[in-house]
Amino acid sequence: MDIIPIAFDSLGTRSMATYIEAGDVKILIDPAVSLAPSRFKLPPHPMELKRQEEHWQKIVEYGRASDVIIVTHYHYDHHNPSFPSLYDNKIVFIKDPKNNINKSQSERAGFFIPLIEKVARKIIISDGTTHRIKNAKIRFSPPVFHGTNQRLGFVTEVSITDSETFLFTSDVEGPALKNQMDFILEEHPRIVFCDGPMTYMLGYRYSYNNFNLAKENLKKIIEKTGVSKLVLDHHLTRDINWRDKIADVFDTGVKRNCDVLSAAGFIGLNDNLLEARRRELYGNKKNINKGD
Ligand SMILES: [Zn+2]
Ligand SMILES: [Zn+2]
Repeated sequence: MDIIPIAFDSLGTRSMATYIEAGDVKILIDPAVSLAPSRFKLPPHPMELKRQEEHWQKIVEYGRASDVIIVTHYHYDHHNPSFPSLYDNKIVFIKDPKNNINKSQSERAGFFIPLIEKVARKIIISDGTTHRIKNAKIRFSPPVFHGTNQRLGFVTEVSITDSETFLFTSDVEGPALKNQMDFILEEHPRIVFCDGPMTYMLGYRYSYNNFNLAKENLKKIIEKTGVSKLVLDHHLTRDINWRDKIADVFDTGVKRNCDVLSAAGFIGLNDNLLEARRRELYGNKKNINKGD
């Protein structure tokens, strides 16, 4: 299996866009990219805007090559309604737009789906389903919370298997909850791309209690599934100090021979946390080329 993280927070934009070749099937998950409209009360830096454009171009390129596109939920860092031709002639798996969805995502789905219906080969509601396409199996979790409650709606987790299993959690922000974990443990993945705990809002929009649960759960994934690479990114890598905050998860990884890393690390690059460094980007032009 080939797994390529295309756009991620550790690569400088808000996204989890990932391309997978499983058996003879080419799959693109969550093809979109966005930026924090305001961080440290600052708008996106020109470097972030440039990176966003580069990531989008890569998404389009991988999208053209894909047979299957998966949309795990209707936030703009996971689907892009302004470029429906990306879905031209694709088999598209979408989060159920009618059930287990909040108002904002339901409205966005209502706008997006008619646009792709005009061009997609087939659109399939994914929640809780399993599919075989050629020699690959694609399985979707039942809807789970986006984060730790239903305020932001629901997402589907994705598991893709050929001779091994890759698991993509989408925006679980942790995972802190049992049903988010159940699917991961059941699938016994070798590689996991996980949306880590939202530590940059710790004690404010993300509780210490949920943070502790998430850390215990990440250790459990390492201990119980035999995962060899655990990629933690997205909400977690909006925090410049994310490695220190989850030091005990790294320790468990070392003990169990599991690489714990960012999506940038997965492809051999240094983190380039542009959003987390936004203040520095505006303040000190000398430092803008740090990172990859
Ligand atoms: Zn989201
Ligand atoms: Zn997201």
